[in-house]
Amino acid sequence: MTPHEFITSSKKKIGLIAGGQLGKMLGLAASNFGIEVSVMDGSENAPARAIAKNFTLGSYNVFDDVVNFGSRYDCLILELEHVDIDALRVLEEKGVDIIPPSKVLSIIQDKGKQKLFFQKNGFASSQFKLIENKEDLNTKIDVGEISFPFIQKSRTHGYDGKGVVKINAKKDLVKAFDVQSVIEEFVEIKNELSVITYRSREGEVGYFEPVEMIFDANEHLVDMLISPSSISDDLKQKAIHIACSLIETLDFYGLLAVEFFITHDDEILVNEVAPRPHNSGHHTIEAHLCSQFEQLIRIAVGLPLGSSEQIHASVLLNLVGDKHSKGKVFYENIDDCFKIKGAKFHIYGKTTTKPFRKMGHVTILDKDINKAITKAKQIKQTLKICTNETA
Ligand code: ADP
Repeated sequence: MTPHEFITSSKKKIGLIAGGQLGKMLGLAASNFGIEVSVMDGSENAPARAIAKNFTLGSYNVFDDVVNFGSRYDCLILELEHVDIDALRVLEEKGVDIIPPSKVLSIIQDKGKQKLFFQKNGFASSQFKLIENKEDLNTKIDVGEISFPFIQKSRTHGYDGKGVVKINAKKDLVKAFDVQSVIEEFVEIKNELSVITYRSREGEVGYFEPVEMIFDANEHLVDMLISPSSISDDLKQKAIHIACSLIETLDFYGLLAVEFFITHDDEILVNEVAPRPHNSGHHTIEAHLCSQFEQLIRIAVGLPLGSSEQIHASVLLNLVGDKHSKGKVFYENIDDCFKIKGAKFHIYGKTTTKPFRKMGHVTILDKDINKAITKAKQIKQTLKICTNETA
């Protein structure tokens, strides 16, 4: 089918699991081409429902829900990693085109397998040990196989810093999880960088300009993303090269976000990868010729790749729920923030807030990156995402 035939016939049906903010932004990119997507999510209030042709209530980790939903589409796009893998395998056998495919997801769903994949394929990453449970952890500490400080990451179901804990000394072991985990040496990080790469069905690989991620030190949660970053060109080129090799080695078409640590000795370590649109690429909607979302839609339906060239410097600020609030959402002082020049708001439309829940983001465009950073800090200090309900 030629691109023109495709958009006029709309023969290819696209399903999306699940319906969070990534799904919403993906659906918006699809609708610009006149392409409709249908969504399955476990919540009636899923953000992507606003753009869905059809909405199905169902859970991404329930085998039957995934098979029943997926069977209705030619192409299934996943906006999160934790989808039931057996269901995806069944769908692939039936001929459903899944992005990312189950072979990639089975590695990435499990942080232990991910680390083993990096090790086996020569991608430098932090030193690690795998443990079965807390008892195993204690034994490995006692025999000197694991030493403090370290980072514990649960092998499955972690996201946005959940399932990640830093253990500095024996007294912190009360915080350790009693689950199969990766224990990583604590890396003294100078910078964190993300590179989003993409690969077409024909094997053409490209990337978006690296982004510097500034983290909330306490919550292991991305606070602000700066693009272009202040990191040296030499390090950026190395990171781009590694990221492109990773998507080639995983051998699939779609998007791959690669997160890196840069140490004080300028060593580049891969932290983790995500085979989907990524929070570190939301600014590509306004700051690049073609966004990560548009690129994924182009790949999914076989349109030519778009240009990922950056056209504006930008700072992205995540808008997260206040740490003391839970309930119906209230955006305190948001009117003042809307007045800020170059601030592009994306409110995801979630009806309830909870501590650190991602409720939206704002991309700030400014020719002067330092001014954009100042504006982002101003919004962070002014806007409070809370609830005005009394407990
Ligand atoms: P998630 O999947 O929840 O995003 P990550 O593995 O990316 O979890 O960890 C979240 C953050 O925790 C990282 O971005 C980094 O700031 C910190 N972190 C993770 N691993 C290490 C490590 N080995 N050493 C030091 N800090 C780490």
